[in-house]
Amino acid sequence: MKVSKRAQAVPPSATLAVSSRAKELKSQGIDVIGFGAGAPDFDTPDYIKDAAIEALKQGQTKYTAASGIVELRTAIAQKLQKENGLTYTPEQIIVNIGGKHSVYEAMQAVLDPGDEVILPTPYWVTYPETVTLAGAIAKVVQTDKSNSYKITPSQLKAALTEKTAMLVINSPNNPGGFTYTPEELAEIAKALEGTKVMVLSDEIYEKLIYGDTKFVSFASLSDDAYNRTLTLNGFSKAFSMTGWRLGYTAGPLEVIKAMGRLQSHMTSNPVTFGQYAAIAALGDPADEAIENMRAEFEKRGKYMAQRLNSIKGVFCSESTGAFYCFPDVSSHYGRIINNVKINNSMDFAKALLEQANVALVPGLPFGCDNNVRLSFACSLEQITSGLDRLEKWMT
Ligand code: PMP
Repeated sequence: MKVSKRAQAVPPSATLAVSSRAKELKSQGIDVIGFGAGAPDFDTPDYIKDAAIEALKQGQTKYTAASGIVELRTAIAQKLQKENGLTYTPEQIIVNIGGKHSVYEAMQAVLDPGDEVILPTPYWVTYPETVTLAGAIAKVVQTDKSNSYKITPSQLKAALTEKTAMLVINSPNNPGGFTYTPEELAEIAKALEGTKVMVLSDEIYEKLIYGDTKFVSFASLSDDAYNRTLTLNGFSKAFSMTGWRLGYTAGPLEVIKAMGRLQSHMTSNPVTFGQYAAIAALGDPADEAIENMRAEFEKRGKYMAQRLNSIKGVFCSESTGAFYCFPDVSSHYGRIINNVKINNSMDFAKALLEQANVALVPGLPFGCDNNVRLSFACSLEQITSGLDRLEKWMT
């Protein structure tokens, strides 16, 4: 059987071992508490579902323009203007089959073999693979705990070469749970001035920010930033619509057109009645629907960070965005817990699952082996009993 070199080069997800083992244990009737979820645990709000049902009843069941219906691209343009201070025409916007598809297609449209893409750690697991699939080279920049894992302008400048074609910025961050301040982003934008580097700004967790955190779109920082940025966003996280597969990209017309050409051959349009639901999602009740979810996440995130920090040798910043805690647990590496030596984040996750039946995601596949990721997209009761188990196991 022939399998392409390209496909062979894509490794199986390094997180898969833990999650498939968690499933296996669950199927044996073992009560596993899962902190692995990358999806909000809320249902899609009814007003959005109703719009999809109505669209189906109206017969919205056929192909649309490959880049998405103009009504949705107009609604997205209005959202970006109103909420993000960004002026895009509907032609500068493409609706993709989820934000993951936006990442893949943006890289396919921009990158050539040999180009370098700067990925600050921790990075979302999909970025390095999509860079490689575009024939480009991931240039990983190791960030520092003391700077809350954010890339600094000097780290960025040191990583720039003549081959640098793109910088990926993800704020609020998966898995880090941190958010760049507007000032930090402005410094990064300044450091890029005079270069040809494009920025892929993954803003999918934009709505999930906590405390006095301020969100700002990278492209809104200056004309220079606007001209070099692809603004990526979607409906999965803000509206609890992970299964609907709706993401979008806004940016320079030439790149968006190129993405449109690729999309017209790869997938064609996002699901038609889903696009009508997406228009509704951006409509009136949006703020209330999002706020209810956001407030609940904020409560859980605070509690989780406080509990993690109370465990000796665990260091966790309170999450300012997304729904993850990303504690440094490395002071426990080298220990033997119940006869198992814990040398790294993979060992940690595996032993915790086997011995205490708590599933979390090791930091290694995000580029940070000192850390593990816990999602708080689960109930406060689950968080409480999962952390009870974790604490008991570690101490
Ligand atoms: N970007 C980041 C940082 C994410 O965490 C995710 C979802 N895990 C996505 C993009 C893509 O989400 P979706 O494909 O569901 O829109």
